Amino acid sequence: MQIDQVKQRRGTVWLSQAGLRPTRQRVTLASLLVGDGHDRHVTAESLFAASAETDAKVSLATVYNTLRAFCEAGLLREITVDGSKSYFDTNTSNHPHFYWEDTASLTDAPTDQLEICRLPDAPEGAEISKVDVVIRLRRTQA
Ligand SMILES: [Zn+2]
Repeated sequence: MQIDQVKQRRGTVWLSQAGLRPTRQRVTLASLLVGDGHDRHVTAESLFAASAETDAKVSLATVYNTLRAFCEAGLLREITVDGSKSYFDTNTSNHPHFYWEDTASLTDAPTDQLEICRLPDAPEGAEISKVDVVIRLRRTQA
């Protein structure tokens, strides 16, 4: 499957916003991430699986490295669940997430319903860099 021009163009613009050089592999992954104009949450594995369906073959190692580079450039936000599973969000604003335990997937939770009244003071010589709110969900019997 070939990635259409519109998606590739969106991906290229997204890369240029962060000053990243639009290499072929970066454009492929960027168009899979933001090509349809919707925010998404991916893991390296899910993005690798999506890229395997395109004509541009990208290795899993390249997917990992590219996701890291996109995070460092501020294009993605990393959310870690269970201390080991990393999810990458194209929406880099502060917002809470639902983590679905049965499917190990991450979705956005309504921001307007979240209220954090007070955070503990950061220890001496430190400041809070970000707050991740992940609400774990278990399905109930319908
Ligand atoms: Zn999100």
